[in-house]
Amino acid sequence: MQIETIAVRGGHQEDPAFGAVAPSIHLSTTFARDSQGELVGPHTYTRSGNPNRSALEETVAALEGGDRGLAFASGMAAIHAVLQTLSPGDHVLAPDDIYHGSRDLIMDMARWGLQASFADFSNPEAFRAALQPNTRMIFVETPSNPMLQITDIAWVVRAAGEVGALVAVDNTWATPVLQRPLELGADLALHSSTKYFGGHSDVMGGMVVCRQEGSTAERLASLQHGAGAVPGPFDSWLIRRGLMTLPVRVRAQTDSAMHLAVFLHRHPAVARVHYPGLPGHPGYAVAREQMAGFGGMLSFELAGGETAAAAVQGKLQLFSRATSLGGVESLVEHRYKVEGPHGRTPKNLLRISVGLENPADLMEDLENALEP
Ligand SMILES: *Cc1c(COP(=O)(O)O)cnc(C)c1O
Repeated sequence: MQIETIAVRGGHQEDPAFGAVAPSIHLSTTFARDSQGELVGPHTYTRSGNPNRSALEETVAALEGGDRGLAFASGMAAIHAVLQTLSPGDHVLAPDDIYHGSRDLIMDMARWGLQASFADFSNPEAFRAALQPNTRMIFVETPSNPMLQITDIAWVVRAAGEVGALVAVDNTWATPVLQRPLELGADLALHSSTKYFGGHSDVMGGMVVCRQEGSTAERLASLQHGAGAVPGPFDSWLIRRGLMTLPVRVRAQTDSAMHLAVFLHRHPAVARVHYPGLPGHPGYAVAREQMAGFGGMLSFELAGGETAAAAVQGKLQLFSRATSLGGVESLVEHRYKVEGPHGRTPKNLLRISVGLENPADLMEDLENALEP
């Protein structure tokens, strides 16, 4: 089945009682046994599994082309579980440019004996120099947040193989519509389902998909069940519903983002545009190779510095000034302000999540806001 069909039909459950076409929401926390004490259905207790969560997990596993999908209550809960598959004394290598929440969590886990370092993954020498004999996981985020840096996943997979490390790819920004890390050899694909999967800025969730069954998949399942950071039935249902339109949304947002990137690139008030679909972007060639499109996220730096960035975002009418991404409504964010003093983002940078409004309207709005 092709991705659009999986998105609509994957994990689809017929309703034998009423023939309802839309899936029912099963709020029950517990599931009955028959008079012999045998479970009537596949589920026991909702923390370990629920029909709505199973439908979501099966669909995302199929979209990513992996053996097992595990749903969590947020993207961070998913990333935490992935890091918890490691042991004290293990080393994790992550990119310099990475979602700040992931960076903070990785560093915080030093308290539990996890060693970590950060390197520029677009520089092969710097990457190799950062590998250690105890490197057990390489954490990739591509395109990265907020600088849209591109990491060559297949290359990292080969390097990881030399030291026997697992490769985990945060695929939130690209989604499986544009990029399939597991097909490139990565072991785990991670998501904040809060973003493109849900797609409407109204539900939180996270996902891990394992390429293969095995000890890591088992450990993740036992953390999901044992630590209990699971999404509820309604959240699972909402994310599953969002997935049905994922391919059409992501493609439309990608088309609009390309138009906006070209427009901004030509604008005299803009010093730099970070979008991997622009041929001048350092990751352009790799992105063309490993992605089916360049995505709906972009960032740009204002020639007029921090003041100009603050002024432009203040003048925009059609972009909501808010963090997060992947929803139907366009968002703009003065990232430096959101990350606070420990952030690494340039002060003159605005990050845009392109929504589903008409791109001509978005461009006009940007044009007005960029006027001196
Ligand atoms: C938002 C985000 C996360 C965190 O996900 P939550 O659902 O907010 O917990 C992790 N990685 C990336 C790339 C993100 O954009």
